[in-house]
This record gives sequence, structure tokens and C-alpha cells, in this order.
Amino acid sequence: MLSEQALLLLWGGSAVGTMTFAMGRDRNPLLWLFAALAAGPLAPLLLLALPPVCRDGPPLDREAMELCDACLEPVRRDRRQCRHCGVVA
Ligand SMILES: [Zn+2]
Repeated sequence: MLSEQALLLLWGGSAVGTMTFAMGRDRNPLLWLFAALAAGPLAPLLLLALPPVCRDGPPLDREAMELCDACLEPVRRDRRQCRHCGVVA
């Protein structure tokens, strides 16, 4: 049986892990920290189930992004080719 403290530690650890994981996947770490605190060990699974590119990325990036005509994923304006589907704009 897990003690209450061990469970809290596990919960907190998984929340911090999810936050780090979210940062690696260009997602809002704070949002995912709270999501992980609410959903516990389910949060990283949720993060995995989501597509790797975040539409609410950093505002700095959003300026330079536009949606690909073919796959509707955000693509950098200065790139001629979509990095998601390979279609050349
Ligand atoms: Zn595309």
C-alpha cells in the first residue's frame, strides 16, 4: 500500500514530468502543470495523444507562422516547404 505522502510525491513528480514533457513538445508548461495536477498520471498520456505541434505556441512565433494550405498545420512564413506534409507553398 502507498502512504499518503508517497502518493503526493508520485502525483507531484508526474506533474513536473508532464510539465517538462510539455515544454519539449512546444506546449504551454504552466497549463500542463495544472492539467497534470488535475489529471495526475493521465496528463502525460493526454499530451501524447495530442498532435506534436501546438497551435497556441509562443506569441512571438505565431507572427511568423501561417497555416499550410494542404494540412492546415502552422508553417513558418519564411519556409517554402511545409515541414508537416512536405507540400511546397
Ligand atoms: Zn502541410
